Amino acid sequence: MSRIVVLGAGISGHTAASYLRKLLPKEHEVVVISPNSKWNWIPSNIWVGVGEMEPEDVTFELGPIYKKAGIVFKQAKAIAIYPEGSSTISKPFVQIEHTSKESFGNQENIEYDYLINTTGPKLNFEATQGLGPEKNSLSVCSAQHAKETAKELKKTIETMKKGKNAVFLVGTGHGQSTCQGAAFEYAFNLDFILKKEKVKDKAKIVYITNEYELGDFGMGGVHIKNGGYLTHTKTFTESLFTERNVSWIKRAHVYKVEPNKAYYETLSGNHNEIEFDFAMLIPPFAGVGLKAYNKLNEDITQTLFVPNGFMKVDADYTQKPYEEWKASDWPKTYQNPTYKNIFAAGIAFAPPHSISKPMKSSNGTPIFPTPPRTGMPSAIIGRNCALNIIDMIKYGNQTPKHTASMAEIGAACVASTGAGFFSGTAASITVYPIVPDFEKYPEYGRDLLYTFGEIGLAGHWIKLLLHYGFIYKAKLKPFWFILPE
Ligand SMILES: Cc1cc2nc3c(=O)[nH]c(=O)nc-3n(C[C@H](O)[C@H](O)[C@H](O)COP(=O)(O)OP(=O)(O)OC[C@H]3O[C@@H](n4cnc5c(N)ncnc54)[C@H](O)[C@@H]3O)c2cc1C
Repeated sequence: MSRIVVLGAGISGHTAASYLRKLLPKEHEVVVISPNSKWNWIPSNIWVGVGEMEPEDVTFELGPIYKKAGIVFKQAKAIAIYPEGSSTISKPFVQIEHTSKESFGNQENIEYDYLINTTGPKLNFEATQGLGPEKNSLSVCSAQHAKETAKELKKTIETMKKGKNAVFLVGTGHGQSTCQGAAFEYAFNLDFILKKEKVKDKAKIVYITNEYELGDFGMGGVHIKNGGYLTHTKTFTESLFTERNVSWIKRAHVYKVEPNKAYYETLSGNHNEIEFDFAMLIPPFAGVGLKAYNKLNEDITQTLFVPNGFMKVDADYTQKPYEEWKASDWPKTYQNPTYKNIFAAGIAFAPPHSISKPMKSSNGTPIFPTPPRTGMPSAIIGRNCALNIIDMIKYGNQTPKHTASMAEIGAACVASTGAGFFSGTAASITVYPIVPDFEKYPEYGRDLLYTFGEIGLAGHWIKLLLHYGFIYKAKLKPFWFILPE
């Protein structure tokens, strides 16, 4: 009998646990440890953040689903990993702290045979002074944050209806943030709602971003097929914003946010400020801060994790200049190189480097997006880790053979406005592969047959389909596994 412990019940962890439970005989135990009792379809938080959906529409309780599926669920956060056991516990284990009302604060050690770390990001608001919902800006990174953002938006719209003008600042709250797609989609939705509420004429929407050019999206920009023509996401994004009268500030590192003012440095080294009435700014991400100890209780956190807290996997972490980066630097199996029974998936794994070209301002401040690990790759990688562990258990196969390199898989980004059936429109971009491979695709780094962009109602329907389809799948309803990740 083996016990597989999955840390985190987000997009990648929940996918991994679901496949492990489906494909492994019942004598093996699947344990999920996650601090939140609910699963959240994070992409739809954007709609919650503009008041088009409620948190209940994008979340559900995991307990009953796991009970039915035969997965052990512990509402707790992992604190430390002991991959060699300790002086008193011979097997590897994870130290956890319960977060449910009934057992809040209780600590427990959970032994494992295999471990998948899918703890996602720490929303690192502290990296920018005054950033975040507890301080001076709003967020849509959790359903609760998004709900608070919708409340503030409603208040701002009410003042506009009474005749006041308002500046909306949307974008990245730090020079090293990722998730530009979410910020872009929020700006898009904001435009839609302000028009719907008939106050757009009183609004100025400003998009602030750490991207060198709009449409970089942390992927170094993408050449896409659009309506039979080849264009760049820079042109695509700029024209979408221009049509909606959204202005933009690019190459910006927001370093301080006050109640109605943001301060930023640009790549040229200038320091500027902008006043706002409403600001939704995405924080940078870090690992959740798990510690690791060896059998002698010595701190080996640096063996398992890179300094920003993401877990080391089978990537090439050698420091080398941008010109020497290769698609093959990216991990394939997501196995930890030191402890072969540990894997990391989704945002929790440490990428070898960014995808966008690294840039520094004349003051030495890094200003460029860190690499995205969006929903589709996170789920695919989660499933991939599960398949490798299943092989290891079933066939004693210590060398994983299932691979899911981000240089070999694609992603879809659908920025959609309005949650109604006929009232929406979407900018949809599919990219293959996510990490450009200039050896395989020398001209643009990507396969243009599968890399395209469209704007219209069809993409909006796809987004709605994804919303309902993924929630159906995540609830493990009949034939959930037929739906692709
Ligand atoms: C606003 C927004 C919109 C987005 N829109 C899109 C989109 O349209 N399309 C797309 O593809 N991607 C989108 N993304 C990205 C997508 O949500 C992420 O790629 C995806 O959620 C990553 O999955 P994950 O499992 O790595 O992390 P998460 O889904 O964040 O899951 C992490 C899990 O770990 C748990 N956890 C945290 N700390 C611990 C701990 N110490 N111990 C145990 N568990 C822990 C968390 O509670 C959570 O359950 C969006 C992201 C945001 C923020």
